[in-house]
Amino acid sequence: MFNKVLVANRGEIALRVIRACREMGIKSVAVHSTADSDAMHVRMADESVCIGPAAGTSSYLSMPAIIAACEITGAEAIHPGYGFLSENAKFVQIVEDHGIKFIGPTAEHIRIMGDKITAKDTMRELGVPCVPGSDGGVHDVKTAKKIGADIGYPVIIKATAGGGGRGMKVANSESEMEQAFMTARAEGKAAFGNDEVYIEKYLTTPRHIEIQVFGDGKGQAVHLGERDCSLQRRHQKVFEEAPGPCISSEERNRIGATCAEAVAKINYIGAGTIEFLYENGEFYFIEMNTRLQVEHPITESIFGVDIVREQIRVAAGLEMNFRQENLSIKGHSIEVRINAEKIPSFAPCPGKITAYHAPGGLGVRTDSAIYVGYNIPPYYDSLIGKLIVRGRDRSEALARLSGALSEIIIDGIDTTIPLFRSLLEEEDIQNGVYNIHWLEKWLDKNFGQNT
Ligand code: ADP
Repeated sequence: MFNKVLVANRGEIALRVIRACREMGIKSVAVHSTADSDAMHVRMADESVCIGPAAGTSSYLSMPAIIAACEITGAEAIHPGYGFLSENAKFVQIVEDHGIKFIGPTAEHIRIMGDKITAKDTMRELGVPCVPGSDGGVHDVKTAKKIGADIGYPVIIKATAGGGGRGMKVANSESEMEQAFMTARAEGKAAFGNDEVYIEKYLTTPRHIEIQVFGDGKGQAVHLGERDCSLQRRHQKVFEEAPGPCISSEERNRIGATCAEAVAKINYIGAGTIEFLYENGEFYFIEMNTRLQVEHPITESIFGVDIVREQIRVAAGLEMNFRQENLSIKGHSIEVRINAEKIPSFAPCPGKITAYHAPGGLGVRTDSAIYVGYNIPPYYDSLIGKLIVRGRDRSEALARLSGALSEIIIDGIDTTIPLFRSLLEEEDIQNGVYNIHWLEKWLDKNFGQNT
């Protein structure tokens, strides 16, 4: 096992990894920007290294600075968390070239899955069902219109390098194709330096269902069921639950086995998520995330598995700690993302926390890196915490979430907490009846132009 692990991240996910290291008797190294010198992850780690100025590009994304921090501290492995360098194949290669272990999949797997066209081709070959669409990249508007006519409108034009909900445009008819095509390309180029796009049928009432997989890198893999992440704003998840309210155990076993077999075949190592749209009883692959997800705790809650610990174990060359036949679901779990944002505009709201009370009690977990007096810097993602509850069943989980949301106090800044309090009043949420468009429609109905 490693003696020392460097956590190349910040915020709640850095704490999550540091806690796992502590439990495993591993020393942790935090890295931080000048804006984060008083951040909680710096306080909690055994050692810390300042790796650059506030901007993420000069610190948390600086490969030389992170490698240097490993060399200075003698860290043998890097856990990337999510975001930043977690899905950067070049970084993984450099890390490994320096004799440091990357806690995650290989550079090759990240490369394949990071390009959505290649990912889709690979998954199709591995027997995973995909959304109908273009055969690879589409390079001009004329071809795009032909494909639109063939598969039928509406269609979605997606940047092959896209992520975080960016680089996607819907065309409802041929007259909208040119504009959507050009915009998706321009967004892909501006945000990811790659203007290649592809086209998919735009599903109008799907749910977002994702399967957690875990591989040992030697041809063994398991699945840990699904998460329903359909409540989204601008293709960004805000509320997640597991198991999915609409997924039967037969469906879970079938799609789960397909996913586990697919990743086993490519000798995938560590945690990964295979994302699907689910409509009329069918699953359609959209992408694979080759890292830990923000919403991994709901899976941990119902399976009783520490996913981060398992990531560290397999990276250190140990055997996988579980087999499919020993994995079973107990109860229901829900996560809400607490963002420093003003509702209903969702405008970022950095600033000083003047009061903080984290809710507690049976089945309540708060993953956050904030504290009283902490100044949320304006440079990074607005996620400041996750409230995760578990109940024996969905209604107990909802009741527990409602209690926790009435108990939590975060003063000094605006957060998304009031949004969740309102959502829990809704019958559709109580009944688990929602799809990927539900939240935007609800926001539109309740706040109109202000969102
Ligand atoms: P990203 O990598 O930016 O997260 P994804 O491919 O995972 O992009 O898609 C994010 C979200 O966009 C999905 O959860 C869904 O809400 C929407 N989406 C993507 N593809 C389609 C599609 N073919 N039809 C309808 N919605 C889609």
